[in-house]
Amino acid sequence: KNDPSLSTTIANDKLLDGLLVSSFDEASCTSRYQSYLYRKASPHKPSKYLISKLRNYERLHQSCGPYTKSYNETMRKGAKLSKNDVGKECKYLVWTATDGLGNRMITLVAAFLYAILTDRVLLVRFDVDMFDLFCEPFPDSSWLLPKNSPYWKDLQQFETRESLFMNNKENRSHELLPPVIFLNLMHTHVGHTDLFHCDQSQDLLHKIPVLIIWSNQYFVPSLFMISSFEQELSKMFPNKDTIFYHLGRYLFHPSNEAWELIRNFYEAHLTKADERIGLQIRVFNTQQTPHQIILNEIVACAHQNKLLPEFELQNSATFPLEKQTSKAVLVVSLYSKYGEKLKTMYQTNTSSSRQVIKVYQPSHEERQNSSDSMHNIKAWTEIYLLSLCDALVTSPMSTFGYVAHSLGGLKPWILQTLYGKTVPDPPCQRAKYMEPCFHFPPKYDCRANSTVDFTSLFNHIEHCEDVSGGLKVV
Ligand code: GDP
Repeated sequence: KNDPSLSTTIANDKLLDGLLVSSFDEASCTSRYQSYLYRKASPHKPSKYLISKLRNYERLHQSCGPYTKSYNETMRKGAKLSKNDVGKECKYLVWTATDGLGNRMITLVAAFLYAILTDRVLLVRFDVDMFDLFCEPFPDSSWLLPKNSPYWKDLQQFETRESLFMNNKENRSHELLPPVIFLNLMHTHVGHTDLFHCDQSQDLLHKIPVLIIWSNQYFVPSLFMISSFEQELSKMFPNKDTIFYHLGRYLFHPSNEAWELIRNFYEAHLTKADERIGLQIRVFNTQQTPHQIILNEIVACAHQNKLLPEFELQNSATFPLEKQTSKAVLVVSLYSKYGEKLKTMYQTNTSSSRQVIKVYQPSHEERQNSSDSMHNIKAWTEIYLLSLCDALVTSPMSTFGYVAHSLGGLKPWILQTLYGKTVPDPPCQRAKYMEPCFHFPPKYDCRANSTVDFTSLFNHIEHCEDVSGGLKVV
């Protein structure tokens, strides 16, 4: 009666097909081993090579993580290395927070991938606004940069890679290299002149023990431009469209506090519906875009793509044979009016297909407040709930929406950017890929020393659906 294949299947599902290890204490992070109960079986399996890279990374993190001998030494010496140390020492990648939660999560994934590729240990500078969001992702260690680390200091004091590159004309010897570099990969910093994706830059950065990374961009496509990473990346991700999907599911486990909110909401409103439709409404310019136009656009998109039924203004009793199905609509927005209006629309109109439509909006914070812990917990809860939906409509250019769809393994319908007061036709387009978009990618061809559109150099790099100058790997 005990079917062994059944228990193996459950174990596989629970550990996300080998992505996770079973050694964590379950109670400290109930979401880690419960998330599979809320998701459909995954059609995307992680490669064996990715799994082995993750296990290797975990070992590295254990031996170099906070308060290990190597960590203490690096911190004490200010990471000054002698020639003899090179190759033996632990190296670090310190992640710093900037912008909203979506931006932070896409850069965490990009930084983690960069850490794996360069044998660095990822340590995160999480302040109180980030403490309560996620569980520890790496077993028997911590990814939190200890508060007494010298790398909590003001970032301006560290040497930048630009000065490093400038002074490196004569190929500086190891003794003269700085122990730490401030690596600015913000959107304002990349573009035409950035050299991060050039092989020579990576050769140089390779020798620096500590990199402090500051970015709001999903810079994964840059990693694909670096020739020394190419082979590793293609072995880790035979399907390139699953990078965020796997690494995000590996890294981001809701804390018990966030998980309780997620589960309670899901079980109260979403679990019983036959289908869950998520609508993410991010308005970057509330002054210039009237909310009624945005609402019309969303409704038009949902109707055209049969996500939601159109209204029957006369008598719905003309469809007596159709089985009643129910849909739960999860509205996620800073503003309450979207949920309210949609709720009223579906209460007062009978839908033509006799579907039961219920509209829910978990919160309406009215304004972004990314330095507040509870605000961020709500944002994370909503990103996660969106990722549990069966179909999504998302707003263009929003990293909040990117995280939701990539984590869920979904290809959303992305709304068109609104200009003026008319709803574009079509109002939205289906995303072809699951990966987030790198909004401000490099444009510099390191070998040719000229400006280039990288989609012409790599056939697995394309422009994004919603940001024409952006790039994604496919
Ligand atoms: P982006 O600006 O859309 O790319 O997404 P970010 O997540 O980087 O920044 C927006 C921030 O505003 C979020 O992290 C939240 O703090 C807040 N925010 C925006 N939209 C919503 C929403 O629908 N729900 C909640 N709870 N917060 C939101």
